[in-house]
Amino acid sequence: MRGVDAADLTAILSSVRAFVRTEVVPLEEQIDARDEVPERIIAACKDMGLYGFAIPEEYGGLGLTMEEEAQLAIELGWTTPALRSLFGTNNGIAGQVLIKGGTEEQRKAWLPRLASGEVTASFGLTEADAGSDPAGLATSARRDGSGWVINGSKRYITNALVAEVIMVFARTDPDAVGNKGISTFLVPAGTPGLSFGARDHKMGQMGTWTSDVHLDDVRVPAEALVGGEDGLDVGFRTAAKCLAHGRAHIAALCVGMAGRLVHESVEFAKTREQGGRPIAAFQLIQGLVADSVTDHYAGRALVLDVARAYDAGTDVVAGPSAAKYFCSEMVGRVADRAVQVHGGAGYIRGVPVERFYRDARLFRIYEGTSQIQQVIIARDALGAAARG
Ligand SMILES: Cc1cc2nc3c(=O)[nH]c(=O)nc-3n(C[C@H](O)[C@H](O)[C@H](O)COP(=O)(O)OP(=O)(O)OC[C@H]3O[C@@H](n4cnc5c(N)ncnc54)[C@H](O)[C@@H]3O)c2cc1C
Repeated sequence: MRGVDAADLTAILSSVRAFVRTEVVPLEEQIDARDEVPERIIAACKDMGLYGFAIPEEYGGLGLTMEEEAQLAIELGWTTPALRSLFGTNNGIAGQVLIKGGTEEQRKAWLPRLASGEVTASFGLTEADAGSDPAGLATSARRDGSGWVINGSKRYITNALVAEVIMVFARTDPDAVGNKGISTFLVPAGTPGLSFGARDHKMGQMGTWTSDVHLDDVRVPAEALVGGEDGLDVGFRTAAKCLAHGRAHIAALCVGMAGRLVHESVEFAKTREQGGRPIAAFQLIQGLVADSVTDHYAGRALVLDVARAYDAGTDVVAGPSAAKYFCSEMVGRVADRAVQVHGGAGYIRGVPVERFYRDARLFRIYEGTSQIQQVIIARDALGAAARG
């Protein structure tokens, strides 16, 4: 990715910062209560190019580098994660499937529409019995003339209910074991046999919808195989590359949310009084704030360093996992302290830190749990010895 020049990056970051803080923050409670992002916010995101920030310029995107993307995600993290999720799959896990694994025809056919926001894409990897270990997926694709017939079900698929296309991971070689014999298919919404479960009733991140995806004898043409015949059986590798990109991004988002939580904690501590003094005067409150400021600072430094190494191609696996692991755990600690600083108010609906506490919990689970990041980091450090 070429990236943008310094002046353009500054302009993008400052306009996103202004949009997030003046347009979206006032709507956070409404988005949480109604489980819906208002249409005018979606339209504004399309106008700002946010549906395509990580899509190369030649396909209509902004073409940000990972370091630039991390700075953008930090700005987006200041508000409800539902904002970022509107276009998170287009730029991240789903769009990256085409960027990293698609043919030129597939890229030209889909990426410009993803970048403009005309089309939303989803990433269908997880299944009821294949989550942390997607190599255990049971969805199958068998050849049928020149095309394919897909059968199976996917679970917790973000944006599936609003997607025009789903990147479906399926086993194309029934005899292959583990992560071999898996391929990816572009399945447009409306294809006969494709159906969706009800919207999942989640703990947090309201305004972002996930659901099951069912594929019953879904017929797709040969052109639906991502990467063409070269894409056969390399779906697992493609998924791993997309997830690594996504992990660096999620880490940056966590840093943004931690920044907001520090801000909320500081503002509350300065104004809330007990015993005639602001609670900010109590050293035990100062300790909570200092720990969160330090955590936020460490996460920010880590994610920007990891993003630079990702751009340089020197670490595209362990670094993103380390950043996601540290930053998702870090924002969990910061959210917990923010609730503590707020006392009873921190436990009450309508107070931002209560909502962020629920929202933050997901970051340790999706795009690889913390335990899976530990496994990836340790395998990289220990090499073959980690396999025994
Ligand atoms: C809101 C939400 C959105 C999502 N969006 C998408 C999406 O768009 N597309 C998609 O494909 N998926 C999506 N997912 C799925 C998500 O990536 C999985 O939930 C996640 O990878 C964990 O899988 P699992 O839920 O099956 O848990 P499991 O894999 O069953 O894990 C249960 C526990 O066991 C631990 N564990 C599992 N294996 C190991 C191991 N080898 N070593 C140590 N511990 C282990 C886990 O860390 C966890 O603590 C989403 C999930 C949620 C909740």
